[in-house]
Amino acid sequence: MIELDGSTGEGGGQILRSSLTLSMITGQPFHIRNIRANRAKPGLMRQHLMAVRAAATVCDAQVSHAEVGSAELSFSPRSIKGGIYEFAIGTAGSATLVLQTLIPALLHADVPSVIKVSGGTHNPKAPPAHFIEHAYVPVLRAMGAQVDFELKRFGFYPNGGGEVCAAVWPCARLAQLHLTERGTLREGRADAYVAAIPLAVAHRELESIGKGLHWRDDQLFAHPLANDQGPGNAVLIVLRSEHVTEVFSSVGEKRRRAEDVAGDAILEAKRYLISGAALGEHLGDQLMLPLALAGGGSYTLDHVSQHAITNAEVIAQFLPVHVSFEAGERYSTCTVRPQGARKDTAR
Ligand code: AMP
Repeated sequence: MIELDGSTGEGGGQILRSSLTLSMITGQPFHIRNIRANRAKPGLMRQHLMAVRAAATVCDAQVSHAEVGSAELSFSPRSIKGGIYEFAIGTAGSATLVLQTLIPALLHADVPSVIKVSGGTHNPKAPPAHFIEHAYVPVLRAMGAQVDFELKRFGFYPNGGGEVCAAVWPCARLAQLHLTERGTLREGRADAYVAAIPLAVAHRELESIGKGLHWRDDQLFAHPLANDQGPGNAVLIVLRSEHVTEVFSSVGEKRRRAEDVAGDAILEAKRYLISGAALGEHLGDQLMLPLALAGGGSYTLDHVSQHAITNAEVIAQFLPVHVSFEAGERYSTCTVRPQGARKDTAR
């Protein structure tokens, strides 16, 4: 039984979600205490509970203490079964984070799977559906995985009600990947979505992005959605480069000016553009798990977050790999290599 302390490092939900994914794949049971100890409302929230239940369903796991508010959990997996699954979070909890818990595991299933998750699709502090579609899934495909993703219906924080769907085909082993250069920028665009919110909000966000990134009007797109998918607003900056696509986003909140909402995404996009790194902060903390499953790889990232450092520690508890970060002048390099391998054998 692997023992984890959910208060270490970032102390958030990712420690639990990575543990679920890795436990399912490796067959190793785990016990975690102090779940999400560093968050304002610690313990399991509905979204995390759904990740636990979804993981348990997919691998017929034995679970204890899986209830809202619980600070500990035990999870003992059996074999992963592919198939058709539907999970409803019931709140605006992030549906994409539940999906991200399952996708790597379902690559190891016996047959293909289709998973639908309902909940929030555009939440603060979680990957928006467009990030999964344009940034995360394409990198998995570059590693040989066959995964399709579809945003069926928008669901904005705090109301939720959205739906995402993924199809995952079994993949004997992910291929290693070295993503050290993003290559030349092929396309830059911004998309602002509003549902039951004035379209002017989207236009103001896009105007800020146009000014902030010196973009032309034909790179900026406003999308009014049907009122019943709202109220809500999200803005996405998509940078499609030769070797990788990155998505920087921000979700509108009540009493927050459109310019400030857009400002968060602009800042992240600028940091990425200036750094020259292949990946931004978020893809940078998420990609090391697939690389660890592949047994190695490397990438450059503009910022090594506490999420990334913590995720590296969790991964090393389940898999015989070593994840390291090397700081350069403008960006860092994350290298995943088999435990005991020499530094110069990573490539
Ligand atoms: P946690 O805070 O531990 O629940 O983990 C949240 C996860 O969501 C991390 O993998 C973050 O990198 C990811 N995340 C947060 N904000 C974004 C964003 N704007 N785009 C993509 N991923 C995000």
